[in-house]
Order: sequence, then C-alpha cells, then structure tokens
Amino acid sequence: VIERGVPDRSVVTTCAYCGVGCSFKAEMQGDALVRMVPWKNGKANRGHSCVKGRFAWGYATHRERILNPMIRDTIDEPWREVSWGEAMGFAAQKMRGLQEKYGRKSIGVITSSRCTNEETFLVQKLARAVFGNNNTDTCARVCHSPTGYGLGQTFGTSAGTQDFDSVEKTDVVIVIGANPTDAHPVFGSRLKKRLRQGAKLIVVDPRRIDLVKSNHIQAAHHLALRPGTNVAVVTALAHVIVSEGLMDEAFIRERCDWDEFLAYAEFVSNPRHSPEAVEALTSVPAAELRAAARTFASGGNGSIYYGLGVTEHSQGSTTVMAIANLAMLTGNVGREGVGVNPLRGQNNVQGSCDMGSFPHELPGYRHVKGPEVRAIFEQAWGVSIDPEPGLRITNMLDAAVDGSFKGLYCQGEDILQSDPDTRHVAAGLAAMECVIVHDLFLNETANYAHVFLPGSTFLEKDGTFTNAERRINMVRRVMAPRNGYADWEVTQMLANAMGAGWSYTHPSQIMAEIAATTPSFAGVTYDKIEALGSVQWPCNDSAPEGTPLMHVDGFVRGKGRFIVTEYVATEEKTGPRFPLLLTTGRILSQYNVGAQTRRTDNTVWHERDLLEIHPHDAENRGIHDGDFVRLASRSGETTLMAKLTDRVSPGVVYTTFHHPDTQANVITTDHSDWATNCPEYKVTAVQVSLSNGP
Ligand code: SF4
Repeated sequence: VIERGVPDRSVVTTCAYCGVGCSFKAEMQGDALVRMVPWKNGKANRGHSCVKGRFAWGYATHRERILNPMIRDTIDEPWREVSWGEAMGFAAQKMRGLQEKYGRKSIGVITSSRCTNEETFLVQKLARAVFGNNNTDTCARVCHSPTGYGLGQTFGTSAGTQDFDSVEKTDVVIVIGANPTDAHPVFGSRLKKRLRQGAKLIVVDPRRIDLVKSNHIQAAHHLALRPGTNVAVVTALAHVIVSEGLMDEAFIRERCDWDEFLAYAEFVSNPRHSPEAVEALTSVPAAELRAAARTFASGGNGSIYYGLGVTEHSQGSTTVMAIANLAMLTGNVGREGVGVNPLRGQNNVQGSCDMGSFPHELPGYRHVKGPEVRAIFEQAWGVSIDPEPGLRITNMLDAAVDGSFKGLYCQGEDILQSDPDTRHVAAGLAAMECVIVHDLFLNETANYAHVFLPGSTFLEKDGTFTNAERRINMVRRVMAPRNGYADWEVTQMLANAMGAGWSYTHPSQIMAEIAATTPSFAGVTYDKIEALGSVQWPCNDSAPEGTPLMHVDGFVRGKGRFIVTEYVATEEKTGPRFPLLLTTGRILSQYNVGAQTRRTDNTVWHERDLLEIHPHDAENRGIHDGDFVRLASRSGETTLMAKLTDRVSPGVVYTTFHHPDTQANVITTDHSDWATNCPEYKVTAVQVSLSNGP
C-alpha cells in the first residue's frame, strides 16, 4: 500500500523564479511532485527559500497547459491540433518561404531568460547557423541589457563582481533601485542579517521599501529621489567624495586608467553636480546626500546592489556606469565584502546574456564583427556567420510594421504582455506572416501566432541556470515532459526541419559545445558541476574550479575605466494633464506577469495589483483607501484599486504588474535606454482620478 503524499525519491534541482538560484530537493512519489524542500547544501541558499520557490510550482500540472502542437494559416482561424512532425514541417516551410520571398534577414528569434543555458544557446544558434542572420534577442533586453553595456564599458564584462557570501564581509551597502526582500528574498534575508550585525545601509529609491525600516533594521540614509534622477544622485555622491578628498587614490592609481579618472574628477567636481545644485531636481535634501556620500566612502568595505530601478530608464546604461565609477572611486572592487552587483530578476538572465542572445554578440560577450571570434563558431558549426549585427526586439517589431520583418520564433516570452507599448507590439506581431510561440500556456502573444509549440517546465528537463553571482547550477529532470519534449529538443526539431542536421541527445553535449567555443566556460562540464555542486564562471585553465570574485588582480578589460556620466532628463515630463510620476515594482508572492504564480493553487497568488498613492495626492482627488481609480498616461489607461500610503512621496504613485488586467504596459511609454533600448518602465507621467470600477 502506498500512502499518498509520502515521497519515495528525491531529485535536487534549481528554482526557476528569480536570479538568486536556490537549490531544492524535489520530493517525488512516482512521477508526482509531493513537495519542494530547500536544499541545505545549495550554495546560493544554504537551505533557505522563499514562498515562490517552495510552493508556487503547481503551474507545471495546471489544466491550462498546452500539451499538443497547434497550427493555423491565419490568426483569425481556430487552432488545429497536429502532430509534432506536422507542426515542424508547417513552421519550417513557412520560415523558409519567408526567407525566399523577403530575404535571409526577414526572420528572427527571441530567447527566454527562463530557459536553460543550453536551450538559450541553441536558439541563438538557430538564428545564426540556420536562419543565417544575427536576429536574436532576449527578454533581458527589457530588464538588464544596460548592465551588459555599462559593466562591459567600465569593468570589461557584464556580470556582478562578487558572490552572495561576500555580503557577510560588507560594512556599508548601497541598495539602489532594488527591493531585495520582495524580489530576491533569500538574498534579502542574508543582507538583513548583515545589517542587523551592524553594517550600514543607504537606500536610493523613490519608495520607502521594507529595508528602510523593519525588524531592527534602520537605513542610515534613504535618498527618496524623484523617479528618473538616478544619474544626478549618483554623480552628486561622487561630487562629495572627490571634492572632500574621500576617494581611494591608491586603488585608482594602481587599478584604473588615471587620465580617464582625471577627466571624470574634473567633471564631477563641477559645482553643478553638487548636492545643493541637484536638490530641487532630485527631491533629495542636500545634507542627506552629503551625509550618505561620507558614509559610503568612509564606512569600510562598500557594496552596491541594484535592480531594475536602475536599468529600466532612458539613462539605464549611464546609471550602471555611474555606479561602477562610484565603486572604483572608493576602491570597492575586487575583494570580499565589496563590489557592484546587479540583482537579476529572472532565474537565467545572466545565462541568457552569457549565451550570446544579443544581436551584436556571440556567446561570451564577443562582438560578431570580430573575424577571429566568428571563425571559432564557423569552424564548430560548419557555416559562415553574418558579420553584421542583427535586430533587437524593438527593431524587429519596427521592421515588421514597416514590412521587412516577417517571421519570429519566440521561446518562453510573452512579448505582448511584458514589452512596452502594447499597441506597437500588437501591430508588429499582426504584420508578421509566421509567428511561432513556444510556451507553456496560450499567452497573449499567442493570439498573433500561427504555430504553437508546447513548452516544458524546469521540472521536466536537464540543463543549467546561471544565477546573479555567475553560479552555474544544475537543473535536473524530476518528471517526464508532459508535452513530450524538453525545450532544447523542440528547438532541435525545428532546426532539423529547416535542414540543420543537429544530433544532440543530451544537454551535456550542448554544454560541451559552449565550453569549446566560449573561453569563460572552457572548464565547465556537467561532471565538474556535479562534483563541486555548482561552478561560478569564469571557469577555465586559470580558474579550474571557477571564480567567486571578479577583478581581483586587475579588471577584465585591463585598467578600470571611469566614464563621464552626464545627467540627461527623460523626455517623459509631468504637466497639468499628467502631474504625477508612476513607477513600478513587485511583491513577494507574485512573479512578473504572473503566468506561473497565478496558476498555483493558493489564494495568496491571487492578490490584485494596487496603486499606492500618497494621502495628500489622494485627498486632492477625493480618493479614499480601497476606491477604484482611473490611471491614465499619454499612452493609455487602466483601472486599479487605490492604497493610501506615505511609502511613496507626494507626486509619485506606484503599482505592481502581476495581473494581466492591470495592463501596466498599456500605460508605460515607448522611451528607452539610449544605449540598449531597455524600456523606461520606471518613469511615466500619469493622472489619477476616481473611477466607478473596472
Ligand atoms: Fe526561488 Fe528566488 Fe525565492 Fe530562491 S529567492 S526560492 S530562487 S524565487
């Protein structure tokens, strides 16, 4: 007799939600998952977890999952369920036909930061080796692409500089544009522990996040800046440090380009960057800015953690570079307890960027224009690689509207719901002649699809995810794919239907190809990951067991590079019609657009999105707590329930975007980061007024 709910085996795997990358023991009874138990040997979580990883896995067996491929000739027709073979034949014929009719560059791919490294590597390979172009982009485009640009320019590589353990040696922490206790809870707990031990905290955020004051934690400084002024605030911090002689000159002379430092020092010393000069612009009192700069520069080991409140701005890349400047200025790079760390939103944002998902970069952040880099892949793949960078997601959609981009393979990403300017995304998708959606559920993007390929969950496949500290963790198959195939197998079927002749039989073979072509992964094998538990890249002959801390003896680019970061105001202006600024974030129990968490059987997952508004702004509008309000911007409008709170300052409102009904991206603008096109989700001029309800 088998007692229901009693596990008879377990498999260790990695959470598929946020970039902390917690390890779990999936306890099984036969092919049924009984529970997820945080694994005490997991190096990123050490036996801890949050509510999402532990309980929100029910979506894997949710009744709305699509398990059979479907096709249709036009998006007005109903779907027809077909065999995998027929779906692949249909998709391949359409995509090849488009290339014959409109040219080699008329089709492209979007990779997912939710899928494994191996799956992502195959999707960009599909574009480069089978489609014959570099039209590959990733959903990291809309979150951390400015990290790639900013840290690449200043330090030489796009990655956090330290491991999570390092937080235990830090003395003073800047958290800017991040809310770790909600969005990265297990790391947030480790940070809180260090703060309770006495480390000082500076929070730079328009909203009073929990870290500012909670449970024996009191931030030394909360710089509640006006949304959109990150660059002015960080540059003002640097102004104080330089003008008061608080910088680490020995570090700068030894580790950084001295001439570039001199130019930077002259720039930040200008009185127009002083706290007093930017007080009105940023809404941060000058005295508070000065005090925060002194705390950071003289407080010992200094760490900076940042999130999407830094990157999702028209100056996202500039802010990342300003943060890197601040770390170099204070000598806070290259040892335990210091550094610059992007907190990655999705489980494999780091990996999807590492794997060459960008239209200008091959795996390992190497530009496609480099003939010696192309030669490595040309030899490995037996094809010639286009030396011209391809299209970003936004460019693909623009080109579709213009009529030159006609076909898209979109894996694990609901661009209609998660990308900015929903109307433009819809217009682009509607203009394409073949949209292939590869996903778990019939998402919003699938309304414009001609082929639907069922996806598999993290529980149904082998592979690896790379977390925010560059840690490559094993993902292990816990149960058979309900749809029949892991995602890497589906991509391989599509490639082969288009004549590729790929013959991978296990993701370890794909990792071997990654290692053979990508220097920072040269020493990575499944056997090594199994033996060590996990490996942090770079892992190669110089670091056979991986690299917990980056830039220890020198920056990856050689000398660290100070870059002048001029503040440029966003084009999104408030005015009489739209007098408030909207910014956005997440709550602990939900995840992004909620596709997974909302499909888990727990009432916590079904909380609605609320609009936080300061009581003064609410009173002026006759709004009470719990009233429905109309939130309108220049782009569109939606209806939300109001929550009166002084967590936000007067003039600022805040919401989350977990429910499709919220339609936050109908509200947000089409402004984007100047360097990477990352959308400016965090600053939208809005009006709020009473409404009768949705
Ligand atoms: Fe998963 Fe992130 Fe929660 Fe860890 S902290 S359990 S990785 S969602």
